[in-house]
Amino acid sequence: MTVSDLYTRLRGQLARRLGTGNRASDVPDEVLGSHVPSPPSRGRAAAMFAASLTFEAVERRYGDTRALRGISLDIAPGEVVCLLGPSGCGKTTLLRIASGIEKPSAGRVLISGREVAGPSRFVPPEERHVGLMFQDFALFPHLTILENVAFGLKALPREEARREAHAGLARVGLGHTAQQYPHVLSGGEQQRVALARALVPRPSVVLMDEPFSGLDVQLRERLQEDTLRLLKETRATSMIVTHNPEEAMRLGDRIVVMRAGRIVQAGTLAQLYRDPVDLFVARLFSEINEIPWVVEGGALRTPVGTFQVPGIHEGEAAVLCLRQRAIRLRPPGSGLDGASQNGASQNGASRNGMGQPGRILHVRYLGDAAIVQVAVQGFEAPLKVRMRELEVPSQDGEVSIFVDPERVLVFPAEVSEKHPVSGV
Ligand code: ATP
Repeated sequence: MTVSDLYTRLRGQLARRLGTGNRASDVPDEVLGSHVPSPPSRGRAAAMFAASLTFEAVERRYGDTRALRGISLDIAPGEVVCLLGPSGCGKTTLLRIASGIEKPSAGRVLISGREVAGPSRFVPPEERHVGLMFQDFALFPHLTILENVAFGLKALPREEARREAHAGLARVGLGHTAQQYPHVLSGGEQQRVALARALVPRPSVVLMDEPFSGLDVQLRERLQEDTLRLLKETRATSMIVTHNPEEAMRLGDRIVVMRAGRIVQAGTLAQLYRDPVDLFVARLFSEINEIPWVVEGGALRTPVGTFQVPGIHEGEAAVLCLRQRAIRLRPPGSGLDGASQNGASQNGASRNGMGQPGRILHVRYLGDAAIVQVAVQGFEAPLKVRMRELEVPSQDGEVSIFVDPERVLVFPAEVSEKHPVSGV
């Protein structure tokens, strides 16, 4: 089989993966990590500029399916954005539209302010200067590792391409494998070669679709670190699709949470953690106790405190969310500082008196941490409290429970029912 046959076969595989109607010819060189710089006047493939990537009211319909509904998003030059959401929410479609493999049904896409897709203009993928990387992105088996990495540097003189490819391989720690063939590498090493191949042409925009799924945890973490370092070194503007919140937290300067074709919330991890727009987002970024409660007298009046509920009406059902890490356990009858108290303190639930009495039912140790289950009078289910292993009070003991009201979240009940989070 010739290299050209192999290349055609890879195009075919990728066309199927990308859903381009199985037409291998739809997949440009660029998408195979073999970017040929465009326009040619850019000179060296290694010449890099940071680009912005903008989506304006982007829609994508497939028959009756609205895969994307009014997506507007600005990605700054050099920024790493993770698209996070359950299967089928439109992440890959947005990636395909950014790359030019797919056209939006409405709206515009701009790279560095220049329209690349819109009602009157469509720039083909090979002219967008984007690089793509996929989890199942096969290397060419009959090319050496070095030749694989150099594949996207055709515009450079041969020696210069080899030098660049060597440097790229060295950056992923695989310089010593240059003359070997892909089959001798482990899965993780092959991923690193694919990463080098995608980044060596220094695309201004890098698009990655689940690039680390299928790897074991340690390998995944190492490759994530390598990838982030390389993306930052090359100042590539990056969009990484994942359904794994932890991966998004590790990699993203910003995280864009999607659901059913829409952006639910976009922000830094701190913003999404502190101020999630709904229960769906809250669940992604912290472990929470969800307690159904009804609004009475304009507030949720619970055993662990009274909490305001802006926007939820009298008599309506709400969900009180207590983060597992935001609950403190102290010896019975003591204040938040652990000292024995007779009066009210100014902290947490103790604004309503002393800490609420509870009883430890079970402790699950997880190395440095532990999950303590505590029965609280007035709550049907025990509360789960996550704490440092050394701080766990004696088992089966009585405790005082303190909840920091600043860290409590309340959402309307129907949000949780409308948008179950399973699948994320
Ligand atoms: P996953 O995490 O499972 O890859 P995703 O969030 O990437 O999911 P998309 O692949 O973008 O989701 O799909 C979004 C919606 O569009 C889904 O309902 C999907 O079935 C539909 N869809 C995507 N591509 C096509 C296509 N070529 N033809 C018809 N429907 C499509």
